[in-house]
Amino acid sequence: MPLKFTPVHDTTIRAHATRDYPNECCGFLVGKALVGSAEGDTMMITRVVPAANQRDDSPRNRFEIDPGELVKTDRAARAEGMGVIGFYHSHPDAPARPSEFDREHAWPGYCYVIVSVQSGQTAEMRNWLLRDDRVRFDEDEIAIRYETVI
Ligand SMILES: [Zn+2]
Repeated sequence: MPLKFTPVHDTTIRAHATRDYPNECCGFLVGKALVGSAEGDTMMITRVVPAANQRDDSPRNRFEIDPGELVKTDRAARAEGMGVIGFYHSHPDAPARPSEFDREHAWPGYCYVIVSVQSGQTAEMRNWLLRDDRVRFDEDEIAIRYETVI
C-alpha cells in the first residue's frame, strides 16, 4: 500500500536528517491503514516522531531504536486510534536503499522510509517493505498530500 503523508511530515523527516548529519537519524511513523478509501488503500501517516539513535559505535551507518521508546510511542498512538506503522531513517552520503543491516533488523508489515542525505542536503526519499520471508525489500510509493483524510 502506498504511504501517504503531508508536506509537514516530509519537512519534519528532512529537517531531522539534516540536523543529525553526518550521523543517521531515525524515528517513528504513526498512522493507520486506510482500506477502501476514496483514493484506494493507503497507509496514512498522521504523525512523525523523531527518536534518538541509540547506536554509539557506528552512528554514521547504523541506527537502533530503544525498544522502550517504541512501546511508549505505540501506546500513545493507540490512545489516538493509531499505531506505529513504520520507521524512518537517513542514509548519510548513501542512496536511499536498505542496507544488509537494515534487512536483518527489519520486520515485515512495517513501512521503512529512507532519506538520502548528500553533503548535508536531503535528496531522494523512498519507502520499503520487507517481504514476509525477509529475503528482500520491495519498494512502494510515497504520496505527499496536503490533506490528511482520516
Ligand atoms: Zn539504513
